[in-house]
Amino acid sequence: MTDQTNLPLGRRVMAMIEDLAQHTDDVGRLTRLYLSPAHRAAADTTLQYMRHAGLDAYIDALGSVVGRLEGRDPSAPALLIGSHIDSVVDAGRYDGNLGVVLGIVVIEALKAEGIVPSCPIEIIAFGDEENVRFPTNLSTSYALAGQYDANWLDGRDADGVSVRDALIQFGGDPNGIAALARDPARYRGYLEVHIEQGPQLEARDLPVGIVSAINGITRARAHVIGEAGHAGTVPMNMRRDALAAVAEMIGIAERTGSTRTDTVATVGVAQVQPGAINVIPARVDFTLDARSPDDAVRHAMVQDIVTECEAAAARRGVSFTIEPFMESPATPMDKGLVAQLEEAVKFIGIEPMHLASGAGHDAVAMANLCPSAMLFVRCKGGISHNPAESITLEDADTAARALLESVKRIVA
Ligand SMILES: [Zn+2]
Repeated sequence: MTDQTNLPLGRRVMAMIEDLAQHTDDVGRLTRLYLSPAHRAAADTTLQYMRHAGLDAYIDALGSVVGRLEGRDPSAPALLIGSHIDSVVDAGRYDGNLGVVLGIVVIEALKAEGIVPSCPIEIIAFGDEENVRFPTNLSTSYALAGQYDANWLDGRDADGVSVRDALIQFGGDPNGIAALARDPARYRGYLEVHIEQGPQLEARDLPVGIVSAINGITRARAHVIGEAGHAGTVPMNMRRDALAAVAEMIGIAERTGSTRTDTVATVGVAQVQPGAINVIPARVDFTLDARSPDDAVRHAMVQDIVTECEAAAARRGVSFTIEPFMESPATPMDKGLVAQLEEAVKFIGIEPMHLASGAGHDAVAMANLCPSAMLFVRCKGGISHNPAESITLEDADTAARALLESVKRIVA
């Protein structure tokens, strides 16, 4: 049993997490949407943390908080460390915030050890990761990669407020966005620490893990059309039951998603028509969400699902159509940075486990700017986007030490 009075980095992390969790748009629960008053308050608190840690810090035109520590060679490509401080509705306190706080704690630790890095280090708290308030997603990190689409400013929230107006209200500057684009030559890498949001580390009894790739995603809408009929009078062998066909198709998706390594396939929505207890279902519209760290594997999986569903539809005399509406490629993590993370994790006595990320992260956007890598931290029960989200003090400390050792290796 570790002596819990002696985990200074972990304690510092947890104290800052508690402090940030006070900034919420809702009473009694944590909700911090992009460009909301709570986001502004959390950004101001983060700014103070960064300045206290000795960083030259500011809030940029899109509301991201950026703090820079100069290195021995100010012209050397900088190391970026970041994550996000926006949240979902009724969120946990670690998703996003943990990675920001860990970056600041690592700067404090470097200073305490008297280490001046060879290159500049920047800590970044992004603001638009959760895709809850506006149609935008990862816009604050895409801006740094020079991929902000000016049309995003016209996106509106449920109250009709545009990103542009919310940004001005926040204190940001729509005219300053283009200038946020960074020159790739000036950055050596981006590191992001995040809670795992899944159960794999817990199952392996490991506090941290190294992300191999962020999964690519295919999303599609499918439609199955059969024939309505009286549930009492049409014999079983004379039916064209759309829902019974979809039940088989869900089984196909589930089985196909399980046959390859690291793939997942989910039917998350199914709408039945006419939807009455005594009517044979005539039509079902359903969704498919399929993910894999390897694009070729994902495409093969989706093709297998479609082929088998077509066969099932033909056998049952129902029609089956499917239209993909989203295609997001996988983001492999940088091999060099992954090796550094692995060395650091081993150095602090942890078995280095590699795992794919099923969820998207700011690293997806940042990988377009510079080599990127991620470290996952075990979270209780794999639960996230939920107030029950939780990590232990010991794991917070381990994550801080793993990141500190990684940074030391990269900026030595
Ligand atoms: Zn997150």
